[in-house]
Amino acid sequence: MRLSRYFLPVLKETPAEAQIASHRLMLRAGMIKQAGAGIYSWLPLGYRVLKKIERIVHEEQQRAGHHPVLMPTLQTAELWRESGRYDAYGPEMLRIRDRHDRDMLYGPTNEEMITDIFRSHVASYKDLPLTLYHIQWKFRDEVRPRFGVMRGREFLMKDGYNFDLTKEDALHAYNRHLVSYLRTYERMGLQAIPMRADSGPIGGDDTHEFLVLAETGESEVFYDSEITDLRFGEREIDYDDRAQCEAVMAEFTSRYARTDETHDEALFAEVPEARRRSARGIEVGQIFYFGTKYSEPMGATVQGPDGKPVPVHMGSHGIGVSRLVGALIEANHDDKGIVWPEGVTPFHVGLVNLKTGDGDADAACQKIYDQLTACGLEVLYDDRDERAGAKFATMDLIGLPWRVTVGPRGLKNGVVELTSRRTGDSEEIAPDALTDRLC
Ligand code: ATP
Ligand code: MG
Ligand code: MG
Ligand code: MG
Repeated sequence: MRLSRYFLPVLKETPAEAQIASHRLMLRAGMIKQAGAGIYSWLPLGYRVLKKIERIVHEEQQRAGHHPVLMPTLQTAELWRESGRYDAYGPEMLRIRDRHDRDMLYGPTNEEMITDIFRSHVASYKDLPLTLYHIQWKFRDEVRPRFGVMRGREFLMKDGYNFDLTKEDALHAYNRHLVSYLRTYERMGLQAIPMRADSGPIGGDDTHEFLVLAETGESEVFYDSEITDLRFGEREIDYDDRAQCEAVMAEFTSRYARTDETHDEALFAEVPEARRRSARGIEVGQIFYFGTKYSEPMGATVQGPDGKPVPVHMGSHGIGVSRLVGALIEANHDDKGIVWPEGVTPFHVGLVNLKTGDGDADAACQKIYDQLTACGLEVLYDDRDERAGAKFATMDLIGLPWRVTVGPRGLKNGVVELTSRRTGDSEEIAPDALTDRLC
């Protein structure tokens, strides 16, 4: 992508309304534009990151055997009256009336709708287990939308729902989700710690939230510091292997880690004092097992092995896709701007031409651009007629992992400069060696 033809409306001034780094940086880097309180348009750079996160979520969900669907954002009130949540949900639900005076709502979550799909099409235990998920916009009329996309009113969520014959099967689905979430966040370069939490309006007993430790997080958390040494890493997982999923679950949840809602001072006191931590965290996901809470009132039953109808055991599992963009920046920035992890970066390489219009520099840049692109890297080429300082500042702000700087002086010596955004280290390298180094 040539920057001269791109739409990257960076801001020079720090926007006064933004209180935290991720919000400031997303505005300054031209990633989003506020459209209303808690409602944002995604501009090209932000949209790229959002799509990268979505892709990782899709891949990891499907690796775990879950099927993508797409449910609408607008829902009719009837289903919610069946579950009893139409009245219970309260003012966070945006209620709408259509021209025929029918009550509708903009979905804050989809338990009812997915249960309706399930009961319409699945009749036998032989069709279980089944997990369906989608990535769709939600609306919650938050009391205090703030921190940009971190607490929006309209936000993008992955929500998945498992249907199982027995509690035991549903608990396997719960463990499977926990494992797949660990993989998902790690692929994004993020440490998200599962913590025992409270189930809120979704209901149920078993639930873990995934939290990213950050000073600006809205949740208060308490944990055993050993938990931060755990990594999922490259291990092979067979998602059908119950014992294996359970072992991962045990490994990642046996140490003390709780949000303030479930925090227990007496239990916490059993953690050796030197390892006791209290901190702030950003909730980037949550998994629930809630049994027959929806299947019973909504009549989502299957015929069991003995021919009798049984209500299915369910759980729901969410990832805050749009919130993750903010959380990733909270965890990865410095005073110059964003520092994207490789897995979600909008482009891999920023190519800076120090002398646009100089025949040699232009030709060298074009060649580097073509070579890196050919090996699958995404390159943002700053071909504008601008001062070097301004070009560097833009690259630092938008935080691509690598910067390649090309100028007539270096080219005379047969080199360009390769700079790591994360370490700030630079090295001189022959242009033709770049593909070996980066691809
Ligand atoms: P919170 O405690 O932050 O209000 P929640 O517990 O109400 O979140 P869930 O129902 O668990 O949210 O939804 C799943 C995920 O969706 C959350 O873990 C979070 O990452 C994301 N999410 C929830 N509300 C918002 C919001 N207002 N803006 C952006 N993301 C959100
Ligand atoms: Mg909430
Ligand atoms: Mg919460
Ligand atoms: Mg939650």
